Amino acid sequence: MSEDGHYRVPTPTNEAIRGYEPGTAPRRSVREKLAELSDVTSQVPMTIGGVQRKGASRRSLKSPHRHEHTIAEYEVGTKKDFQAAVDAALKARQGWAATPFHERAAVLLRAAALLAGPWRDTINAATMLGQSKTIHQAEIDAACELIDFWRFNAHFADQLLSIQPLSDGTAWNRTEYRPLEGFVYAVSPFNFTSIGGNLPTAPALMGNTVVYKPATQTLLVASLLQRLLEEAGLPPGVINLVSGSAAEISEVVLADPNLAGIHFTGSTEVFQDLWRTVGNNLGRYRTYPRLVGETGGKDFVMVHPSADPESLQTALIRGAFEYQGQKCSAASRAYIPESLWDAMKDGLAAEVDEIPMGDPADFRNFMGAVIDKAAYTRQVEAIAYAKRSPKARLVAGGVTDDSVGWFVRPTVIETSDPAFRLLEEELFGPILTVYPYPDGKWEETLDLCDRTSPYALTGAVFATDRAAIAQASRRLVNAAGNFYINDKPTGAVVGLQPFGGGRASGTNDKAGSVLNLVRWTSPRTIKETYAPARAYRYPFMDDPKEREGGF
Ligand code: NAD
Repeated sequence: MSEDGHYRVPTPTNEAIRGYEPGTAPRRSVREKLAELSDVTSQVPMTIGGVQRKGASRRSLKSPHRHEHTIAEYEVGTKKDFQAAVDAALKARQGWAATPFHERAAVLLRAAALLAGPWRDTINAATMLGQSKTIHQAEIDAACELIDFWRFNAHFADQLLSIQPLSDGTAWNRTEYRPLEGFVYAVSPFNFTSIGGNLPTAPALMGNTVVYKPATQTLLVASLLQRLLEEAGLPPGVINLVSGSAAEISEVVLADPNLAGIHFTGSTEVFQDLWRTVGNNLGRYRTYPRLVGETGGKDFVMVHPSADPESLQTALIRGAFEYQGQKCSAASRAYIPESLWDAMKDGLAAEVDEIPMGDPADFRNFMGAVIDKAAYTRQVEAIAYAKRSPKARLVAGGVTDDSVGWFVRPTVIETSDPAFRLLEEELFGPILTVYPYPDGKWEETLDLCDRTSPYALTGAVFATDRAAIAQASRRLVNAAGNFYINDKPTGAVVGLQPFGGGRASGTNDKAGSVLNLVRWTSPRTIKETYAPARAYRYPFMDDPKEREGGF
């Protein structure tokens, strides 16, 4: 039966965010699911070639806000398992690459519908439990953003495929959007379930097959998403989920001649390490691997004297402390004119010190715990460093408690040193460092903001003065890939604010946009000539007066 037809992916809209207000049915049902998942120790297998697989041993996953509570056991795979994942991806490649685009897109659209409906509570609850997100943070990430990734990517890929060359009447020119020749390695971070869902599926949508290594802390939700994708119709071997030592997985995967791309989100350090290894192995690959990495940030809030103090304060609190500051886009340094800072800091400190924090199962909390002991220790050390320093002063928070979970109170530090370490380094926790700059030094402080950190992910300017906004926008043109005017630097929405940064923050391939999807195809140009030439001679050669003999 013919399948001809220019099928168009339905125009997407952003998934509506549920409010989970007290007394509502969605709140009750997500709570039930959370209790259900909390009461069991889930088993988290690897999935290779569509088969659930055990490793050589098992390890337990703990909840960040109750670190003695085992929520799941995951498999520690061996090099044999990782090689099996590469082989399974290569085996599935031909069939998946030959599957028509609308069939591949339909899998993602169905996955989006399953996540919006019957799977929503499960994926949200697993994110709350495993990553210590409040229901709101889980909802905007694990449900809405991932649904948006799947729906919008299908739509953007459809648009990409429709970009075709011109034809001049003698031939029909076409662009075929082939998948890359080989397999893609997807590696995701702990902090966004949606990124874990997007990194393997974006290349898969374009016809690639994938070896997928989720962040260990997210293995519970990652394996649930794998089940969801299977239910949506993803064929075996298209996405192969492995777990175990990241270094061992990479050793096997990066050595394979068929590595065709890496889709990474995580720290700058790990991405640079992957890039170096690929560089060292360059001679053995059949094709140049595409390297796409979105990495760290030291995101700024740059404040002009004309800023509205109330919206600034709310942006600082939400931008710096939602999800415990563990967003790559979290506000972690602010430049505020001294006079404005003096007027606002007591109010800011009072509001920050009141922020409710604890187990996300208690819906009154605004914050949960940081992800693990290493993250906790990093915050403890940073706070101790600031307390010791004569150039810094604690304005709010500074209290940590690891008796039950990895809890770090939201912390505001003020420094008189524009090169203070905490203004430069990514801490990835709930610490905001403020540099109050001398009134009148706006332009110099723009320069300072631009050069203080190696990152360039997100940043915000707060001002009501139009000229100041324009000046900041120009002067900070390369300081952020996502630039906000009078808004917090977090909360990018798929389809509305394509996300990614430059400098040490990544390759800026804008996840959830057509720019990212382009990286997962290797276009083939086809020219089909209607009436091929039958003689090699050109008319210019036919001049009878030209002297004979050539040269
Ligand atoms: P991470 O770099 O520690 O880990 C990311 C992933 O890399 C994990 O799956 C980890 O197991 C894996 N990994 C570690 N060593 C590896 C190796 N040798 N080979 C292959 N994989 C390896 O980062 P994280 O703590 O999970 O996430 C936080 C970081 O991610 C922060 O730096 C944050 O800024 C960044 N991030 C960036 C964005 C963005 O869009 N720019 C989004 C989210 C997170």
